[in-house]
Amino acid sequence: MDTYTVLLVDDEEEVIQVIMKKIDWAGLGFSVIGYANNGVKALEMVPQESQAEQQDVFNYMVEKVSVKEDMADIKTVKGSQFKQPLLEFSGSCAGCAETAYARLVTQVCGDRMYISNATGCSSIWGGPAATSPYTVDKCGHGPAWANSLFEDNAEHGLGLLLGQKTIRERLMGKLQEMAESDKTPAETKALIATYLETAQDGAANAAATAAMLKAGASAGATGENAVIWNAGKAQIIAGPIGLVMANSMLGECSPAMATAIASSPAHKVLIPATRCGASIAGLPELPLADYIADAARRILEFV
Ligand code: SF4
Repeated sequence: MDTYTVLLVDDEEEVIQVIMKKIDWAGLGFSVIGYANNGVKALEMVPQESQAEQQDVFNYMVEKVSVKEDMADIKTVKGSQFKQPLLEFSGSCAGCAETAYARLVTQVCGDRMYISNATGCSSIWGGPAATSPYTVDKCGHGPAWANSLFEDNAEHGLGLLLGQKTIRERLMGKLQEMAESDKTPAETKALIATYLETAQDGAANAAATAAMLKAGASAGATGENAVIWNAGKAQIIAGPIGLVMANSMLGECSPAMATAIASSPAHKVLIPATRCGASIAGLPELPLADYIADAARRILEFV
């Protein structure tokens, strides 16, 4: 049996000693190679290069292993554990219970969750600026997080709630106007009716919203063949610049797809997304939302 090496890290010396002495590490197949009293010392004790071979395993798990939502009733305590946690790698103390229950609540309602964070530990591990422990699901949905400087998160959270309620009511008012207009097609009216009927049911309303978004296009298809087949017929192709680069977007854009898109006569509106592994000299560095807004403007100009 392989022996696994263990490095113990905690800022309490007594805790380390108890963990070291009370567990039969050798009997369980582990070898304690050392301990550190803080994260910086721990990182110094385990050189990054020594862990590099694990990167492929990590990448595989992130890219290939999907959430198994049909394994159990997700409304039960056990079932909730099969949902994707939207709180991942925080910088809290090892063994912190706060991150455990914050992770659990993101599994229960994280894709539609607003967090009004009072200042304290949860604002330190929750918003360390350069990185974020919160993440998104495959649709790009995840918790919205904000922190008020002082311990007034009830007032701050009320503001978030009122703001969200106002925006939503304004949206529903506009949809109501559309539903009453003679110019609105019957199918669109049906979609709006479903949206308005489910407005207070989060899960059902999410499905209704997705249906409305989908209805914006006359048809939809995915996969390499669909892209190659339709690239020659499309009038506009819009997307990240990786669309014309073979094997970009983590390999999602195959050489055949990149060739079909690059050689298509369609007008192309490409966004210089840095995740595609390319940068364009001379362009100002803008937030992604600005690039998307500019792309939308260019498409409207074209049509
Ligand atoms: S609440 Fe704060 S101090 Fe306590 S264990 Fe968690 S991160 Fe550490």
